Amino acid sequence: MVYKEKKIYRHLYGPVPSRRLGYSLGIDIVPYKICSLDCIYCQLGRTTKLTLERESFYPLEEIVTEIRQILTEDVPIDYLTFSGSGEPTLYHELGRLMRKIKAITPLPLAVLTNSTLLYREDIRHDLLMADLVVPSLDAVTQEMFKAVNRPHPSLDIETIIEGLIKFCQEYKGQLWLEVLLVKGINDSLDHLQILRDTIRRLQLDKVQLNTVIRPPTETFAHPLGNEELEKIRNYLGSKAEVVVDFPRRDRKTAFSSEKLTKEILEIVSRRPVTIEDIHQALGYHRLEISKALKELKQANKIREINHQGRIYFELK
Ligand code: SF4
Repeated sequence: MVYKEKKIYRHLYGPVPSRRLGYSLGIDIVPYKICSLDCIYCQLGRTTKLTLERESFYPLEEIVTEIRQILTEDVPIDYLTFSGSGEPTLYHELGRLMRKIKAITPLPLAVLTNSTLLYREDIRHDLLMADLVVPSLDAVTQEMFKAVNRPHPSLDIETIIEGLIKFCQEYKGQLWLEVLLVKGINDSLDHLQILRDTIRRLQLDKVQLNTVIRPPTETFAHPLGNEELEKIRNYLGSKAEVVVDFPRRDRKTAFSSEKLTKEILEIVSRRPVTIEDIHQALGYHRLEISKALKELKQANKIREINHQGRIYFELK
C-alpha cells in the first residue's frame, strides 16, 4: 500500500463530510473569529473582532496556490466551500478569488454566509459567481437578532432581510437558507410565524433547519429535539428540511499514525469534534483514532468535553 503524504494547509481544511454538501473542502479566508455577529451558539467561541469592515486578510495568491496544490492530491471533493473561522464575505478579495478558482477547476463553489452584509451591492455582486449560497437567518425581529446573534451595533435585521430579498432576485444559482433554532429562544410560535412570512418573501431552493449540535459559546444555548424540528419543518412548508448527518464514503488514501496525529490536530484546531466526526473526515478506524486522541490528551495538546452527553475533543 502506498501511503501518501498530505500537506497541512493554512487556508484549507478537510475535505470533511458535511451534512449538506457531501465532501466539502473548507476554504478559510478570514482570521479566527472576525465576524459581524457573535452568535450564542457559535462553535468557535466568542467573536474576537466584531466588524463590518471588509479587509484583504491574506494575499489572494497564497490561497490560490494551496487550492492548486490540493487539487493534485487524491482526495474526494464535492464542493469548495468558503466558511471557517469567521464571516467569509468580510474578505475583500472574495470576488476575485472565486474568479481565479473558477479558472482552475470545474468543482462547484459554495459560500456559507451569515447574510449580514447582503444589503451591500458589492457583496451581492461577489456572491453571484458561486454555485451555491447558504445564507443564514436565525432571527426576523431586531430583539431576537440581538438575543441569538448579538450583532455589530450598526446592523438592523430589516435591512438584512431587504438585502436577502434583493440577492434572491439577482442570484441564479442554488440558494439554501439556513435557520438555526435554539431551544426556548427563537423557536416560539410568534417568532416562527414571522419567520414563515419572511421566508415566503424569498425565492429559495431549500430552507434547512439546524440546531445546536456542537458545544456552543453559551451554555444556555440548547438544541431542539428531532420531533420539535420535524414539527417546525412541517409548519414552514415544503421547501423546509431538517439537515441530517452525511454518511461517509471510503477514502482512497491512507496515512501513517504520525500523519493521523497531525490530521487530528488540524481538525481539532478548527472546532470541537467527536471520534465519529474524525472517523468520517479521515476514514481511519475508530480504535486508531481513539488511541491517537488518548496520546494527544496525555501530551496535554487537547482536552475532552462533554456536551449533551456526547464527548468532544478540542485544542487546549
Ligand atoms: S456562528 Fe458564524 S456568524 Fe455566528 S458568530 Fe460564529 S462564525 Fe459568526
